Amino acid sequence: MRFDIVTVLPGLLESPFAHSILQRAQKKGIAEIQVHNLRDYTSNKQKSVDDYQYGGGSGMVMMIEPFANCINHLKTQREYDEIIFMSPDGETLNQQITNNLSVKRSIMILCGHYKGIDQRIRDTFVTREISIGDYVLSGGELPAAVLVDAVVRLIPGVLSDETSALSDSFQDGLLDGPLYTRPAEWNGQAVPPILLSGNTGEIEKWRHEQALERTKNRRPDLLK
Ligand code: SAH
Repeated sequence: MRFDIVTVLPGLLESPFAHSILQRAQKKGIAEIQVHNLRDYTSNKQKSVDDYQYGGGSGMVMMIEPFANCINHLKTQREYDEIIFMSPDGETLNQQITNNLSVKRSIMILCGHYKGIDQRIRDTFVTREISIGDYVLSGGELPAAVLVDAVVRLIPGVLSDETSALSDSFQDGLLDGPLYTRPAEWNGQAVPPILLSGNTGEIEKWRHEQALERTKNRRPDLLK
């Protein structure tokens, strides 16, 4: 799966993709992530990508031209299943959306900055707008990294234990239950004895009950 991320701050995206699962997915050739610097697609001397807002008001707006140049250039190289704009007014990201995106072949992601981007970029190029939650960040880079991480870990072969993504919170409509590792007793707190019983059937049942209980308490909306 291929991701092309368009940003004015490529440096912000270096670290998230250079470690752990995302790094491994790229080394294995399962995911290819390319970051493109919007300033490389400007035609003015100052390489500026933003301008004052029509109608006045505070906050700069990202101009059409660099985005249009970059998107059109990328489109000559491959077809995109989705061109996604990260935006607080988009559909809120959830596990269903990440599942849906994880079967695509190529996705372009546009990161906004400053006050936002010219509406005409959204009207002309964007096929989907995604928010990572009801709060405002300074730019679309961290949201883009969140989206790519959530999608890539679902691609078969990325996680070493294939089943572990399937039992994660939201994947089966339930939150994950409590987890324990060694030692079996710490500070007077013992691991639930069932987990040490070796009875896989009973352990599965207990885990399901715990997941159900946690979901009932914390996110009853998921059970409706
Ligand atoms: N004026 C805009 C916010 C701009 S924040 C508004 O009120 O909606 C600058 C950029 O950061 C946005 O264009 C978007 O790309 C990104 N961004 C900020 N918060 C985000 C969120 N919750 N989800 C996704 N992208 C976000």
